Amino acid sequence: MKKLSITDLDLAGKRVLMRVDFNVPQHEDGTVRDDTRIRAALQSIRYVLDHGGKLILMSHLGRPKKVKDDPAKLALLKMDPVAKHLAGLLDGVKVTKMDQVVGDAVTAAVEAMAPGEIVLLENTRFEQGEEKNDPALAEALAKLADVYVSDAFGTVHRAHASTEGVTRFVAQSAAGFLVAREMEYFGQVLGNPKRPLVAILGGAKVSDKITVIENLLNLVDTLVVGGGMAYTFMKAQGHEIGNSLLDEAGIEVAGKVMGLAREKGVELLLPVDNIVADAFSNDANTKTVEVGGIEAGWEGLDIGPKTLALFTETIRKAATVVWNGPVGVFEMEKFAKGTLGIAQCLAESDVISIIGGGDTAAAVKQFGLADKMSHVSTGGGASLEMLEGKTLPGLAALNDK
Ligand code: AMP
Repeated sequence: MKKLSITDLDLAGKRVLMRVDFNVPQHEDGTVRDDTRIRAALQSIRYVLDHGGKLILMSHLGRPKKVKDDPAKLALLKMDPVAKHLAGLLDGVKVTKMDQVVGDAVTAAVEAMAPGEIVLLENTRFEQGEEKNDPALAEALAKLADVYVSDAFGTVHRAHASTEGVTRFVAQSAAGFLVAREMEYFGQVLGNPKRPLVAILGGAKVSDKITVIENLLNLVDTLVVGGGMAYTFMKAQGHEIGNSLLDEAGIEVAGKVMGLAREKGVELLLPVDNIVADAFSNDANTKTVEVGGIEAGWEGLDIGPKTLALFTETIRKAATVVWNGPVGVFEMEKFAKGTLGIAQCLAESDVISIIGGGDTAAAVKQFGLADKMSHVSTGGGASLEMLEGKTLPGLAALNDK
């Protein structure tokens, strides 16, 4: 079902409450270290301002619960540096930062707003009711606004007061541009993908991704497995894997996945060679070995050149590729070739490329290739849950078109 979009709303003179993901990495003094998430929301922010809306922004920042007994650390999670940074990006727009999430001062500030202005609420997680999805908090938030816009894809998999509860008390709830784009691309993979559809899975653990793998086996033509999780598959096939990452609990799962893939006629590609190292370090000695050739004392930290050739050949034949999880320890230069090679291949081909959030998004950014992908998701957890086929509460709560 298509969801209401920000472009369907009448915004002129309206109070628009928008949930954004300003949960940005910070420097030690609290200032913004990486503003990617703030920039990602600018399209929706500018749209509301340009259409004469009064924009009330809200987001969480960090985990206040974890530092609640440390006032200095807690103070670093206030939204002030974010407000300052945002004002810098929106030259000339009035940004008023509140010291509360809800309450009389917030209500008064919102009443005093003129169209084209912004009020930024305090960190939503400073309110106990946020993560509990407390209806009283949700209603208080909704009372601030005429319409609600969700543009925080990174949190739509959580049913919190600011992401889900609020929609029950507000007249209209719509998707912002960022969330609409995420729904469009993941919707394509899950609904009506251009085939062949290939999924590339990597990262550390098999057991973390069981439900994703099971769901993908119903959708894809080819499933490519690399990264740390591939060694658990090799172990399940009876190969020696030395000190490579092994997910004991995942061995049985890997066996089951291989059986299911055969049953469903899904091609399953595993590494045929690996870059192995004698230590988990960029200074380690390395060599390339075929599958089954990993000796005791060595660990596989990247896919080998033959595997990269095999994987890129598959990508070139695909129409759609969804990628979640690096195929090696890309954070270390010596073990980044596989992940880089896949990213370059995706960047150069005409394939529709959908990059899951988290580590994979970080990898393509590190390589400077993010803007060559069709879509780089802004939500790690949310994109995984999408691929698991789950209903995401913050999306389900939006009005249908
Ligand atoms: P995940 O959070 O499960 O997606 O795992 C991502 C992490 O897996 C990244 O930090 C990679 O460095 C790591 N990774 C990828 N391949 C390997 C490998 N062969 N051995 C150990 N870690 C790996």
